[in-house]
Amino acid sequence: MARKGRSRNAGPSEGAVPGGEITLKGIPASPGVAIGRAFLLDSEEIPIVRQAVAPSEIPQEIARFEEALIKTRREILGIQAKISEEIGSEHGEIFNAHLMVLEDRALIEEVVTRLKDDQVAVESIFAEVLRKYVKAFSKVEDEYLRERTSDLEDVGRRILHNLTGLKRRGLSELAQPVIVVAYDLSPSDTASMHRQHVIGFVTDIGGRTSHTAIMAKSLEIPAVVGLETATRRIRPDDQLVVYGSTGTVIVNPEPQTLKTYEELKLKLETLDQALLKVKDLPAETPDGRRVQLAANIELPEEIPSVIAHGAEGIGLYRTEFFYMNRKDLPTEEEQFEAYRHVAKALAPHPVVIRTIDLGGDKFMSEFRVPHEMNPFLGWRAIRFCLARPDIFKVQLRATLRASVFGKIKLMYPMISGVEELRAANEILEEVKGELTREGKPFDPKVEVGAMIEVPSAALTVDLLAKEASFFSIGTNDLIQYSLAVDRVNEKIAYLYEPAHPAVLRLIRQIIDVAHEHHLWVGMCGEMAGEPALALILLGLGLDSFSTSPVNVPRIKQVIRAVPTFRAKEVVKEAMRLATGREVEDFAQGRLRELVPEAAK
Ligand code: PEP
Ligand code: MG
Repeated sequence: MARKGRSRNAGPSEGAVPGGEITLKGIPASPGVAIGRAFLLDSEEIPIVRQAVAPSEIPQEIARFEEALIKTRREILGIQAKISEEIGSEHGEIFNAHLMVLEDRALIEEVVTRLKDDQVAVESIFAEVLRKYVKAFSKVEDEYLRERTSDLEDVGRRILHNLTGLKRRGLSELAQPVIVVAYDLSPSDTASMHRQHVIGFVTDIGGRTSHTAIMAKSLEIPAVVGLETATRRIRPDDQLVVYGSTGTVIVNPEPQTLKTYEELKLKLETLDQALLKVKDLPAETPDGRRVQLAANIELPEEIPSVIAHGAEGIGLYRTEFFYMNRKDLPTEEEQFEAYRHVAKALAPHPVVIRTIDLGGDKFMSEFRVPHEMNPFLGWRAIRFCLARPDIFKVQLRATLRASVFGKIKLMYPMISGVEELRAANEILEEVKGELTREGKPFDPKVEVGAMIEVPSAALTVDLLAKEASFFSIGTNDLIQYSLAVDRVNEKIAYLYEPAHPAVLRLIRQIIDVAHEHHLWVGMCGEMAGEPALALILLGLGLDSFSTSPVNVPRIKQVIRAVPTFRAKEVVKEAMRLATGREVEDFAQGRLRELVPEAAK
């Protein structure tokens, strides 16, 4: 990801305490406490040995240096071209500053002169000269020049890698448990993280329902996003405490702070164990109303966690992760195997397979999707699938074929109106015809649902009801589209309010109209995993909650503790309130009274 619009100003919410520890405040992305050493993505120390060279070897060293400069230039030009093509030339231009570093005559000449004087291998000379420059730049008054420090560090690191032949370490190659610190992590970075070794992560940008945050939750990795200055305030190997539930990151904690968080970590782990006790109990209200409580997954590897947390099925399988971190498209056979595996593992519970939702903040690694000004409003999800029936059909075939191995349901993302739903269903019918002719078995009664995540769909549920068998409310997108708040932008994260009266009214309308048409309606957005808001959703009559496996036990506690009439009372009161903050505070208060064990 290009470092676009990188803010260099210290965030208003961060502060240093006298002992030297620093507290940074960001956006809570994934709960829990992680304590460990910082791994700054792309800025690890490169081990350099100061090795003497004979005078006769100096020309060879100079040649090595020149080669490294050329190689680095080629690399940067390559990245620049890729970034320009994928997300726009204005982002590619950031790399011009990097290229300028490579042409800095003063720096190059100093390396060559010192090489001749000191007679040691060029990497150690270059590392020393680079350090000197970085130090000088970081001290200058002029902000523009000071900002060039990180360009210098980035390019310097590349040159050193090329001189030493050492490969840059990727997230999949980590050997020790670390807390990853990055400007940004793409969902595909997150998906490729080595789970044993990444115990937490923090990023400068991102919002609560960015897919990176969602991935962290499903991987059960404590995470804080939107910290703005983490990559500047944290150094490699600093000790970090990440408290994902509140969005707090403490850098080099004092012994007392460390002790407090170690105790909290232990307490939370014990609490989690206690929560798991409700795992095998039904998701049923005290007055006997049965609710479906399912889990969201991104990868089949999460099935053990789904089962361990007592979810009854999968309410959202985000299949697009199948298409990421790879150079080719997944074949029908590959997808069929995965879907069959998930269906079998969860049977007799249902598995809702959502057709690919690429675009927005999820991109296929190699598939060339043109740069768009507003990717969340652009060529994504069902729009992409309808434009590429060749890709869509492969997934539909695989899903249908897997449907005989369990209870599979199909669901389309980003439906904005009846036409899209009809068009998708037509393709589905074609595929069913093909499979029948080929003699390949599938469940002819496979249920087909639509996600309600676009306001136009929310307002036309009655019309969509004729073409679908169920609905699932995708609040992550519904909130961003109805409140006009980009879900991944940390600058406006304060406006992203699930409890906003407009959102509640839309949800109430979706549920009521769906029920009038005798269709069940679930929710698979992050909102369904918030215990206080679950109280309201329960009162609104939501039939199914689907959330990250870790949230399942807490939501079950809420369902099991609150009789329907109480939940309805909460709704009545909440609907009278004027702001999201008021609703949130009110719901948290009621949760503390009604289900103290599920309150944060
Ligand atoms: C949603 O939008 O609420 C949703 C569940 O889909 P995604 O988060 O994958 O966009
Ligand atoms: Mg969505």
